[in-house]
Amino acid sequence: MKYGRIKNFINGEFVAIESQRILEIISPVDGTFLAELPCSTNADLDEAVLAARNAFPAWSKTPIKERVQVFYRYKSLLEKHLPELAALGSEENGKTLGESVAEIEKCIELTEFACSLPQLVTGEILEVSKGVECRTEKVALGVVASIVPFNFPTMVPNWTIPNAIALGNCMIIKPSEKVPLSIGRIAELLKEAGLPDGVFNIVHGDAEVVNAICDHPHIEAISFVGSTKVAQAVYRRATQNLKRCLALGGAKNHLLVLPDATPDMTAQNITASMSGCAGQRCMAASAMVGVGAVDHIIDKICAEAKKLVPGENLGSVINQASKERIERYITEAEQQGAKILVDGRNVKVPGKENGAYVGPTVIDYVTPDMAVAKEEIFGPVISIMRTKTLDEALAIENANPYGNAASVFTQNGGAARYVIEKASAGMIGVNIGVPVPREPFSFGGWNESKFGVGDITGKSSIEFWTKLKKSTTKWNAEAGVNWMS
Ligand code: NAD
Repeated sequence: MKYGRIKNFINGEFVAIESQRILEIISPVDGTFLAELPCSTNADLDEAVLAARNAFPAWSKTPIKERVQVFYRYKSLLEKHLPELAALGSEENGKTLGESVAEIEKCIELTEFACSLPQLVTGEILEVSKGVECRTEKVALGVVASIVPFNFPTMVPNWTIPNAIALGNCMIIKPSEKVPLSIGRIAELLKEAGLPDGVFNIVHGDAEVVNAICDHPHIEAISFVGSTKVAQAVYRRATQNLKRCLALGGAKNHLLVLPDATPDMTAQNITASMSGCAGQRCMAASAMVGVGAVDHIIDKICAEAKKLVPGENLGSVINQASKERIERYITEAEQQGAKILVDGRNVKVPGKENGAYVGPTVIDYVTPDMAVAKEEIFGPVISIMRTKTLDEALAIENANPYGNAASVFTQNGGAARYVIEKASAGMIGVNIGVPVPREPFSFGGWNESKFGVGDITGKSSIEFWTKLKKSTTKWNAEAGVNWMS
C-alpha cells in the first residue's frame, strides 16, 4: 500500500478515522493498491462541525480584504506545487498528466476569482427618507458543506472552497471515496497559506456520512456535485431539513452538427470533447446529432478517434466496474442495430494490464430510443444520431431529461442563434466542444442536471454562500417623523 490509511482533516490536523468499514483505493492506471479509506461515522462529522463552528466567529468577522489574502497565497502554492498535485490527481483518478495539469490550472483561475470577491460583494446604501438610511450587506452563512464526485479530485472541490471560505463561511468537505488523496494536499496548502484551523475540514466516507451531513442541525448549506440520482436524494433530504442546497447532477450533452461546419475543427473539437478525461466529464460530448449530409465530418471524427491511444494520450476510466458498464452499453447498442465505427472494447495496455482502459468509441446510426442515446455513459464514447432538419435535432436534444450543455457546429450565424434559443441546456456552445463558461461567468446546468437556485461558481455563487442583512438607521435627531419611522 503506497500511501497508508487516510485520515480526516479537522481543526488544522490530520485525525485518524476509527471505523470498521474500510474501502480499498486502487489506482485505475495500473491497479496499484494506493491506500485504505475508513468511512467516517456521525461522531467524526460532529467533531468536524464543532471545529468549524468554533472557527466561524473569528473568521467571519475578519474583513474580506484580509480573508482573500489567504487565497492569494494559496494561488501561489497551487502554482508552486502544480506538477506534484497533477501527478497525484492522475494516479488516483486515471486521467492523463496533461489533463491533470489543466485541472490544477483551472483551480488557479477559480482562486483568482475568489481573490476578486471584495470588488463584487459591496453592499448598497440609500437615504430612503430624510436622515434615514437603508443599507444591505452580504453576510456569511456559518458552517457549510461541499460534497464532491470522483471525476475532478481538485477542480470540483475548488469550485466551492475559495468562494465559500473567502465569503466568511467555514467548510466541511466530503471528498469522493474513490479519489480521497488530492484533497489532503489541498488542506495542507490552505493551512500553509495561513487559513486558521477549523475553517476548512475534511470528512471522508460514503453515502452514510452524506446523509449525516444532510441531517446535521449545525450545517447551514450544502452544495453537491455528482450523479442525478444522488443529487435528487441529497437535494430532497437537505431541503427537507430546511437547509439551503444546490445539487448538480449528471448530463447527456448533445452536439448538433450541420453540413456547413468546418470539418477539421469540428472533428477535432468533438473528439476531444467525447474523450477528454476518458469521457468522465459532465460537459463531455456524449451524443452527436448530424443534420443532413455530415458523413465527411464523421469520417474525420473516426480518424481523430483512432489517434487516441489508451494509456498514452487517453487515460483510464475510474475502475473495472466502470469499464465493464461502458462496454455493456456499446455491446447493447451493437445488438440493437447501431454500427460501431471505432470500437474501444477489450483494450489491454501493455505494462498496465490491471488498469481500467476503454478505447475511443464512435457509434453511428444510433436511434433516440437506445440507452446509448439517452443515458449518461461516462466513458470515451460518442453516439451519433441522424436527422434531416435542425428542428428534429433540437427535438431530440429537448427531449433528454438532462440539461447541462449543448453545442452546435456551423458557419451560419442564424442557425447558431436558433440553437442558442431553442436548446434546453444551461451552457451552450457554438463551435465549442466543451462550453464551460470561464470566471467570472458561472457554471451550472438546467433540468435534471441541477437542482436548486443559481449556479455553483462565478458571481452566481455569491448569492448561494451569503445571506443579505438589511439595516435601516437614523442618526439625525432633527429628521422628521414620517410614515416609515
Ligand atoms: P456519485 O453521485 O456516485 O457520487 C457523488 C458524491 O455522492 C460522492 O461524494 C459520493 O460519496 C456520494 N454518494 C454516492 N452515492 C450516494 C448515496 N446513495 N447517497 C448519498 N451520497 C452518495 O457521482 P460520481 O460517480 O462520483 O461522479 C460522476 C457523476 O457526477 C456523473 O454523473 C457526472 O455527470 C456528475 N458530475 C456532474 C457535474 C456537474 O457540474 N453537473 C460535475 C462533475 C460530475
